[in-house]
Amino acid sequence: MSSNAFRFPDVEFTPELKALQQEVRDFLAAEKASGGFVPVADGWGFGVDLEFSRKLGQKGWLGMTWPKQYGGHERSSMERYVVTEELLAAGAPVSAHWVADRQSGPMILKNGTEEQKKTILPRIAAGECHFAIGMSEPGSGSDLASLRTTATKVDGGYKINGTKIWSSGAHFCHYMIATVRTGGTRDEKNRHEGLSQFLIDLSIPGIEIRSIKNMAGDEHFNETHFTDAFVPDDCLLGEEGDGWHQVTSELGLERSGPERFLSSAIVLTEAARKIGNEPDDREALMLGQSVARLKSLRRMSLGVSGLLQEGGSPTVEAALVKDIGTRYESTLLNDIRQVQPTEPLGQSTDDFARTMAEGLLRVPSSTIRGGTNEVLRGIVARQLGLR
Ligand SMILES: Cc1cc2nc3c(=O)[nH]c(=O)nc-3n(C[C@H](O)[C@H](O)[C@H](O)COP(=O)(O)OP(=O)(O)OC[C@H]3O[C@@H](n4cnc5c(N)ncnc54)[C@H](O)[C@@H]3O)c2cc1C
Repeated sequence: MSSNAFRFPDVEFTPELKALQQEVRDFLAAEKASGGFVPVADGWGFGVDLEFSRKLGQKGWLGMTWPKQYGGHERSSMERYVVTEELLAAGAPVSAHWVADRQSGPMILKNGTEEQKKTILPRIAAGECHFAIGMSEPGSGSDLASLRTTATKVDGGYKINGTKIWSSGAHFCHYMIATVRTGGTRDEKNRHEGLSQFLIDLSIPGIEIRSIKNMAGDEHFNETHFTDAFVPDDCLLGEEGDGWHQVTSELGLERSGPERFLSSAIVLTEAARKIGNEPDDREALMLGQSVARLKSLRRMSLGVSGLLQEGGSPTVEAALVKDIGTRYESTLLNDIRQVQPTEPLGQSTDDFARTMAEGLLRVPSSTIRGGTNEVLRGIVARQLGLR
């Protein structure tokens, strides 16, 4: 086993970061007080509010780390962490822009042409252009390289055929970054070859988006069908045939943030508010244990950000935070219910009952989306030299 298999460096907030944290808290408190948003459980996954996303764009809190010439703000990844963490903790409805800001924009910045950067990134940073993830297909989830959707070269571009599934938000998004097959075969030996990524405008002919209702009744994810959908050559993202390398780095961006343990944080906050300043022994134990676990996860997650800031690619550290973090999210709600037996009611005016209902219906997705926990443990085991 490698002795340097993973590390979580200590990260301290500087006075500037603390000032930014306060600025975000003040903004969120004012927005909440004026009805600008209603806190929701899993707001990054399910809380779509196009106007709120625009407001964040106006504050300069989207595309924070990107160059100014592309609408960004040239701030550090730690500053982005601070803003992200506050939005998550407050249960803000940030789902509309989350994918574009977290992974699609950085992918375009890294692999895109000058034209793609100039036309798309400023719109993402303004909170006005949203992205869906086109990875999974029927029969190709964990084993992503087995995907079947094809892009066939034709005069002036490519024709896309196939089906993507579980495409979150595709029904309101403007673009999808789709990973498809431009060559190679699905054989075990060379399945990672011949994959490419395309920036697909979801309004073009040949695309049909059908919603799949989740168990909460949300129209959140979709089937996205491509039938001879023509995309011009300049929709290729990065190099043809480099899709596997690109999509694995996209997954790194997808898995490494604090959203992997903060989705249900608002329910804990509402529970603490309900319990008040004089908890009984069981309530105090639940609150103490839950907050202690949250603090440990936060310490690890900040370590991942520290490694990203150093220019590293903390695949294993991010996988560990996502595995432990999503398991924490899954047990947290039941731990709370043991001491605060409230009937979870989606339409309740009681914020605790309402966010608990939202959390319970949404939390099963935590350990699946972005790669299942079993798959993440496989990544960690490989790094530890155990497989
Ligand atoms: C809320 C939500 C939103 C999503 N949004 C998107 C999206 O926007 N875009 C997108 O492309 N996808 C999205 N997904 C899909 C998600 O990435 C896949 O569901 C996930 O990768 C698992 O794939 P699968 O569902 O095909 O399950 P499978 O891969 O069939 O896995 C089934 C079971 O087998 C286990 N398993 C599979 N392989 C292994 C292995 N090698 N070792 C051990 N166990 C294994 C898995 O852990 C799982 O328990 C979303 C999923 C959810 C729940």
